[in-house]
Amino acid sequence: MEHQGRGVGPALAEARERLRRAEVAALREPGSVRLLLATKTLPADVVREAVQADAQACATTGARSAILGENRAQELVAKAPALADLAPTWHFIGPLQSNKVNAVLRHAACVQTVASLDLARRLAERAVASGRTLEVMLQVNVSGETTKAGAAPDDAVPLALQVAGLDGLRLTGFMTVGANSPDLGVVRAGYALLRQVRDAVLASGADGTEHACELSMGMSGDLEAAVAEGATVVRLGTAVFGARPRP
Ligand SMILES: *Cc1c(COP(=O)(O)O)cnc(C)c1O
Repeated sequence: MEHQGRGVGPALAEARERLRRAEVAALREPGSVRLLLATKTLPADVVREAVQADAQACATTGARSAILGENRAQELVAKAPALADLAPTWHFIGPLQSNKVNAVLRHAACVQTVASLDLARRLAERAVASGRTLEVMLQVNVSGETTKAGAAPDDAVPLALQVAGLDGLRLTGFMTVGANSPDLGVVRAGYALLRQVRDAVLASGADGTEHACELSMGMSGDLEAAVAEGATVVRLGTAVFGARPRP
């Protein structure tokens, strides 16, 4: 794992500064966009370094501490206990197979990648059985790229209303992976679409939609476009940890 030779601490401070500049440029309150650190492929000790550097950065700026995001159930299960003393908030941000639901629920406060009523019902059932409320976001495929997961934008509003009505779940917002395009205008239009989905769901006034404010969008390559379109959470991997080894 390389951090372009800088180490995680300086890279994290730089990413936080980049986020702050994006907030200012978009006339958003500095510190208002939550940082999520995407920890896939990273060993727990590197994640620990990042969490500690983040705590320092937040102590001086007053920003809220970063969320940790994991894509694979097995990695979450391995890393969460190793970092439990830091009491981080984990979000699950990858494809979730039904046989991994229990493992993910043990550690994650939020599953950002709900894209079907079937998965939502499974999660709801498990949450009710363990006497808790699980936060979920609806993943939307704003670009229509066939390689990407998520509900189609046209299906997203009705699906969100159904998910919001399930006992055991709290719909907190919407998540997307931006278009894979060199044209930032295209990327940004996709983020605007996610915001429109969110606004339509909030405007519905339907039961359980009142908390669905979050927009988890923007990654290392395009966080400025996402912040300009109203992101409330940006998910950064390479900007903080350097390039990941290719699978
Ligand atoms: C890996 C990952 C990220 C971070 O991507 P970078 O381009 O490395 O910042 C964000 N979201 C999801 C869902 C990811 O899998």
